This record gives sequence, C-alpha cells and structure tokens, in this order.
Amino acid sequence: MARLTIKDISKSFGTGFAVDSVSLDVEDGELVCLLGPSGSGKSTLLRMIGGFETPTAGTISIDGRDVTRLPPEKRPTGMVFQSHALWTHMNVFQNIAFGLKLRGLPRAAIAEKVEGALALVGLAGYGGRMTAQLSGGQQQRVALARSLVLEPKILLLDEPFASLDQHLRERLREEVKDIQTRLGITTLFVTHGQDEALALADRIVVMRDGRTEQIAGPSEIYRHPKTEFVAGFIGSMN
Ligand code: ADP
Ligand code: MG
Repeated sequence: MARLTIKDISKSFGTGFAVDSVSLDVEDGELVCLLGPSGSGKSTLLRMIGGFETPTAGTISIDGRDVTRLPPEKRPTGMVFQSHALWTHMNVFQNIAFGLKLRGLPRAAIAEKVEGALALVGLAGYGGRMTAQLSGGQQQRVALARSLVLEPKILLLDEPFASLDQHLRERLREEVKDIQTRLGITTLFVTHGQDEALALADRIVVMRDGRTEQIAGPSEIYRHPKTEFVAGFIGSMN
C-alpha cells in the first residue's frame, strides 16, 4: 500500500482548473519531485496534500486513511513554503518549539526535540538567535527544522530554496536529500529547477496546465523526456 494515494484530485478557483484530475501514489520513504513551469499547479497540488486548500473533487489518503477534508494540523504532514514565514519576534528555539507547545509536550521533552532538530539541519547552538539575524539559507533551515520537529510522515517542500543563490541551493538540496535518506521520510519536493529534480528524485512528476504529463524515474525522464519543458533543459546541458 502506498503511503500517499491521490485519486483524481482537482481544484478550480472559479475560472479554469489549477489542478485537473491528478492521480499519484507515493511509496513509503520515496522522494518525489514535482516539476513544471510556473502556473502548472505544483503549489496547489502540494497545498491540497498539506490541507491548506480544499479540493473541488477527488480524494487524498495517507496510510489508507482519507484525509481529504482534514485541516493541516490534523494531518501527518509538514510543509515548508518558498517564503519561510518564520516569526520574527521569536528566537530560533521558540519558532521550532511552537508546534510542540501547542501539542502540550513537557518543557524538557520540547528542549530535547528542538536541539535534535537543530542538529539535524546543521544549526546546533543557534537556538538563542533571532531569526532576522540569520542568512536566507539559515532561515530556510529553521523552517525545515520547525516542520521536522513535529515528526511528520510526509514532508512537503514548496520551492524552499528558490530565492537563494545557485551555490547555496545546491548545498541545501544535498542536505535535504541526506536528511530525507537518514529519516526515511516520504517527501514531495516542488521545484521548477530541472537540475534539482534530476539530482534528487526517486521519481519525477512533470506537470503542465494542472495535469501530470509524465511520471517516471530521473533516468527515464532524462532519456525519454515527453515534454518540451524538460527536453529543452536536457538539450541545454549537453
Ligand atoms: P505553480 O506552483 O506550478 O506555479 P500554482 O499551483 O501556484 O502553480 O497555480 C496554478 C494556477 O492556479 C495558476 O493559474 C494560478 O494563477 C492559479 N491559482 C493558484 N492559486 C490561486 C488562488 N488562490 N486563486 C485563484 N487562482 C489561483
Ligand atoms: Mg508554486
């Protein structure tokens, strides 16, 4: 049984369909990259999986349980957005601890989990810093830690490094891959960077106009790209 099962999911915002009858199974521990041009429905699909958007039609199940109508906090998912949305009036520790406090964990357990999450993202010792004092990359690391500390079964990353420079982006995506492998956490990674998808993914979902154009492993996509979007990029690499 797949960890995540998406069946004929659609989302209309009144005009056209942002997501149009998408179906997808994601296995336990798999890293799937969603790739596609701007406006192809990647964020909307991810937001529906995370519970931030209600589908117009279709169902989403996680570990066999229908979560289609559940709010984000009732789902075993954690999401990191392109703009990290950290709380600037709180320090790093408080940002990461916030969700654990809502869950009513005792203080010692919170401290231990926050330290663990900080170490995982390479920010051990940064708990006392204000988030505004951190670099862009460090802020996205905190956002990642804030998600991971709640121990989600599925990690949803929506272009978390898009605003960072190329070098940092490459480093961070390697770190994400490393963390993902170590934790064995099922992950959906939205990107419009083809190089990112080819480097990271177990499987790639290529989207266009709200639909899936191709779902395959990176080597298959590389050798037999169905879409101009990917083919154009691969052509430019050779
Ligand atoms: P991507 O993440 O691939 O760039 P999006 O999922 O953000 O694509 O957008 C898909 C389509 O849905 C776009 O045409 C976008 O304008 C539209 N859309 C997304 N969110 C909304 C919204 N809240 N209201 C109206 N239209 C939206
Ligand atoms: Mg988007």
